[in-house]
Amino acid sequence: MVVIGGGLVGLTTALELCRHGVDVLLVEKHAVTSPQPKARRFGFRSMEVFRSLGLAGTVRDAARDLAGHDRFAAGETLATSELQPMWGGAPIEPSPELVGPEPPSLVAQDVLEPVLAAAAADAGAEVHFGFAVTGVAPDAHGVTVETAEGPVRARYVVAADGARSPVREALGVTRSGPGAVGAPAVNVYFRADLAPLVADRPFNLCTVAGGAFASVDGRHRWVFMTSAGRQDWPAVLRSAIGAPVPDLEVLSVLDWCPEVRVADRFRVGRVLLAGDAAHVMPPWAAAGANTGIADAHNLGWKLAAVLRGEASDALLDSYDAERRPTAAFVADQSVRRSSARGVPDQEMAHPFVLSAESIAYPEGAFVRDDDREEPVTAFAPTGRAGVRVPHRWLDDARTTSTLDLAGPGWATDVDGGERVLLRPDGVVAWRGADPDGPERHRRELLAARALPGGSRDRRGCRDGDP
Ligand SMILES: Cc1cc2nc3c(=O)[nH]c(=O)nc-3n(C[C@H](O)[C@H](O)[C@H](O)COP(=O)(O)OP(=O)(O)OC[C@H]3O[C@@H](n4cnc5c(N)ncnc54)[C@H](O)[C@@H]3O)c2cc1C
Repeated sequence: MVVIGGGLVGLTTALELCRHGVDVLLVEKHAVTSPQPKARRFGFRSMEVFRSLGLAGTVRDAARDLAGHDRFAAGETLATSELQPMWGGAPIEPSPELVGPEPPSLVAQDVLEPVLAAAAADAGAEVHFGFAVTGVAPDAHGVTVETAEGPVRARYVVAADGARSPVREALGVTRSGPGAVGAPAVNVYFRADLAPLVADRPFNLCTVAGGAFASVDGRHRWVFMTSAGRQDWPAVLRSAIGAPVPDLEVLSVLDWCPEVRVADRFRVGRVLLAGDAAHVMPPWAAAGANTGIADAHNLGWKLAAVLRGEASDALLDSYDAERRPTAAFVADQSVRRSSARGVPDQEMAHPFVLSAESIAYPEGAFVRDDDREEPVTAFAPTGRAGVRVPHRWLDDARTTSTLDLAGPGWATDVDGGERVLLRPDGVVAWRGADPDGPERHRRELLAARALPGGSRDRRGCRDGDP
């Protein structure tokens, strides 16, 4: 297997594949991980993925600088800002500890990526930074990945090569969506000792006149987000801080545009798109990286089952069937988070729906229940087929969750007299009374006979040829 791209999604994909016993080569064109602390909030589901990889503690360790910073502040300047009440003062229901076994973490992307890169290498992946892919050529038996140092042959390729995805472009995969959904913006990443100024009000985000500050380590590293166009960044920063800062240093400036674009296919034969290569969305729900990490989790066990010869190649069609509508839904919800500010929006989902990825897949590698209408706006986990199994602790010591039952293999749980078949990614695959149901349905789902439209989009693939 070759994974192209050493960002959060490529690295998580490599980790997932290693966990399932697949040999992985990950190639990243840059010599080092991202210097930009773009994503900083990793939700329940991402933390569950890290838990399943044995990395939740490591990620939480990496997140220690921002522990206790999950608060909002506001003011005219940073110096005059004040902490705002959590959730606007209203209690959030349900209580977060009922949602999942691992609470969300605040950790900057430039801190987390090196942690994942080291973990991927430890897990046995060959991780090559400074190694650019110049082309991919899928055929009936595999994919030739062209690099400056010669071709590499793989049976399947995951392209986690970012929003501009050269692989997606080369394969001619179009994207749909509204495109730009807001004005161009700038993130100014800077270093300054602001600890004495804000020690009494640790914040995640602090809105001020003309922009917002985000904590990167809560002491010396910060991001100022503002509208595009201004140039004298030290002067802009000093005015927004509103207090003398002798040691201020701008580290980098990132221009970005909030946009929604979802690839029209997440699979072209033996090439699978994941992360920003497959979907871009504005960061207003902090969902871009989290959605990509969930892609990796969805894909890892399927690729492993196909490569081991346990599953038909058609199982991989379920990746598109499940993740493409999910990405479109999360992208739409991300836009609603901004455009509906102050205006009631009946379609806006409870934040835990996105954060715990408790979104019902419309179709895919599971046996649909007849009555599977699930409200996507309310967080009401029911354990129906096509949805992440709801979390509940299985022991008094609260060490084992229902989410720990499956992975790397399948699992069967019993709930109210019904048998519940869990896929390796913790999604409910089937539920019913038949004692033979779990094994029979597992076999059928791996054979992908039950998949609606299971053989669509097979360009470059031969039936039954993994
Ligand atoms: C301002 C901002 C704030 C954000 N905040 C959040 C947040 O709070 N929460 C959240 O979940 N998301 C957030 N996001 C989104 C998040 O940063 C992205 O969704 C995430 O980084 C995507 O990861 P990725 O691995 O798919 O892509 P990338 O991080 O773009 O990684 C792709 C990698 O592929 C490599 N590559 C490209 N071409 C080649 C090639 N030919 N050969 C080899 N390698 C190649 C690139 O060098 C790159 O390292 C934010 C984004 C922005 C811009």
